[in-house]
Amino acid sequence: MPCGTRWAELRKWACISTGKGVSLVTLTGTAQGNAPFFAQPVGYDGRTFMIGFDHGCDTEKLLHDVCHWLVAPKERRGRMNFGLGPGPTTVSDHESDNEEVTVMLLEGLLAPLFKLSPDKIAKPDYNVADKRNLDWDACAARAEAIFESVRPSVP
Ligand SMILES: [Zn+2]
Repeated sequence: MPCGTRWAELRKWACISTGKGVSLVTLTGTAQGNAPFFAQPVGYDGRTFMIGFDHGCDTEKLLHDVCHWLVAPKERRGRMNFGLGPGPTTVSDHESDNEEVTVMLLEGLLAPLFKLSPDKIAKPDYNVADKRNLDWDACAARAEAIFESVRPSVP
């Protein structure tokens, strides 16, 4: 369990602000290695943030997924992994790359409110398909706007 972060506050805030559940999932036996990611009980199934209780910081993983929910357009908030995959996706690389970077920037803005150290967060573009897709200024502006709108609700 985390590591001096405000895990309990984050968990509560996640449920209140998204209306979704949070579940810590333990992968047992060979579950981690055998199934493709989307068949594993981790990720977001449209109703519950399922955080793999394996390694790494649970606060970072949950905050990242809540940021995905905040950044995703309404029509994709109820879809598996926000319609970005793993799982069914109709989103272009261009859109998903910019969405991922916006999520990472928003996560960086929210992290201090949950006492999550910035060195626990990956580089914003670590997971994009093509860095040439990125409009950094637009991503930063969107992340900032969402941050300002949710900050008053953070306990
Ligand atoms: Zn992501």
